[in-house]
Amino acid sequence: SDRLAFDVRVAPLTGGRVLVLAEDRTAERRVEEVRRDFVANVSHELKTPVGAIALLAETAADAADDPDAVRRFAAGMQRETARLSALVQEIIELSRLQAPEHEVDFVEVPLEAVVAEAIDRIAVEAQARDVTVVVGGQTGLFVQGDHALLVTALRNLLDNALRYSPTGTRVSVGMREVEGIAEVAVVDQGVGLSAEDASRVFERFYRVDPARSRETGGTGLGLSIVKHVAANHGGEVRVWSTPGRGATFTLRIPSVDAPESEKDPQATTG
Ligand code: ADP
Repeated sequence: SDRLAFDVRVAPLTGGRVLVLAEDRTAERRVEEVRRDFVANVSHELKTPVGAIALLAETAADAADDPDAVRRFAAGMQRETARLSALVQEIIELSRLQAPEHEVDFVEVPLEAVVAEAIDRIAVEAQARDVTVVVGGQTGLFVQGDHALLVTALRNLLDNALRYSPTGTRVSVGMREVEGIAEVAVVDQGVGLSAEDASRVFERFYRVDPARSRETGGTGLGLSIVKHVAANHGGEVRVWSTPGRGATFTLRIPSVDAPESEKDPQATTG
């Protein structure tokens, strides 16, 4: 809500006068609300796979004399358990990123290495879906940041590009520097997003199509993780899309000079 919140204290003074102290608590109250929403969402999201596992276990127990049925229910339990574990992992990651005391381990990170590692992590999935991943653009770009977190962010964008693209399409990853910002763009040829959805996809647990997202293993947390990683690096993530004609997500982080160790070794002196 947009309501203002104040803590008011009244202290009697001499002569019948009073001192009124009003402390603005609006910001703190808002943080509290966001936290409460998060907990409510998390409980709701966890209940779905847990409920499914309980039901599958119960049904399996009832079908004990039908090995085929038991096997089927066991496979279902495995699927739901994987989902639950992905969800728990992302929730932990997100709360860590959101913690006010969270500190990024800042060093100069070569963007190409981040891109290469993220692509490496999705290579098997890309092949399974017959999606071609191509990389290009400017080389030698550096950002100040945490290598692992940046890989996680980019990997989430790539996961989505695969998840929301039909087989036989292409995902392009491009790097460039614009006005001091190092930018990685992930361009897909998938289902795309409406303007309304595009404006909301970075919200926690927001999904355009919950059924499809669940089917493809999505948790609804991926893009809020990307948003927090970007923010922790003093950057941002943006999206452009035409429904039915793919989406482009860009991760934009201030660029820095290459560290001394990466510069031309001939140029260094004893
Ligand atoms: P999920 O785990 O459901 O993919 P995300 O936070 O990663 O959650 O994304 C939120 C929603 O944004 C997704 O459910 C999907 O509807 C939409 N979305 C994300 N990436 C893309 C994309 N590349 N193309 C189309 N829709 C996307």
